[in-house]
Amino acid sequence: MDYYAALMRYARNPDDLTVLAVAGVLAAVVDEGGTERLPIPGLDAEETHWLLARWFPDAESSLGLYFGAPAADSQPGPSYDDIDLVTLLKTYANPVAGTTTEIQCISHALACACAGKKHLWQELRLSSRGELSALLEYWFPALAEKNVHGMKWKKFLYKELCRSEALNVCRASSCGECAEYSSCFGPE
Ligand code: SF4
Repeated sequence: MDYYAALMRYARNPDDLTVLAVAGVLAAVVDEGGTERLPIPGLDAEETHWLLARWFPDAESSLGLYFGAPAADSQPGPSYDDIDLVTLLKTYANPVAGTTTEIQCISHALACACAGKKHLWQELRLSSRGELSALLEYWFPALAEKNVHGMKWKKFLYKELCRSEALNVCRASSCGECAEYSSCFGPE
């Protein structure tokens, strides 16, 4: 089954970038290992049930997405970096953009997508980097506006994470002299 398309049939607002991104993360989790892979890594079952009811009413029962707490050995928990990334995102979240629970859900969904190999907008199944920019500017405006040089979003988020912990993983003293430049900047 195409879970992304199926979820979107139940979307409360199929044009909302948050709905599209959350559908992308949910579908990626299910595509990887079936519905038993739920809940979303980093969220517990109750939060994932809440997320489904909030943005995809009726999808859970209609699509048979029944799940409870994962067995201890059935699903990897969030890594240390994922937890720190969630903390970073929540620190910058706009409190009027949504409720605390919504911010919790979107922060974990983004951190989950960051663990993928593709560009972040692709992992979220958005149609472009521009859509991801708009999503981040909505939920985390103070963080998004720090990306003044248009760094690739996933690279930027981990760079900010390192900066927040006073770490520097860059091998060059400046981006202009760096052999990694094309992996941090340019089209994505
Ligand atoms: S281009 Fe090089 S110096 Fe600049 S952020 Fe990327 S890794 Fe660091």
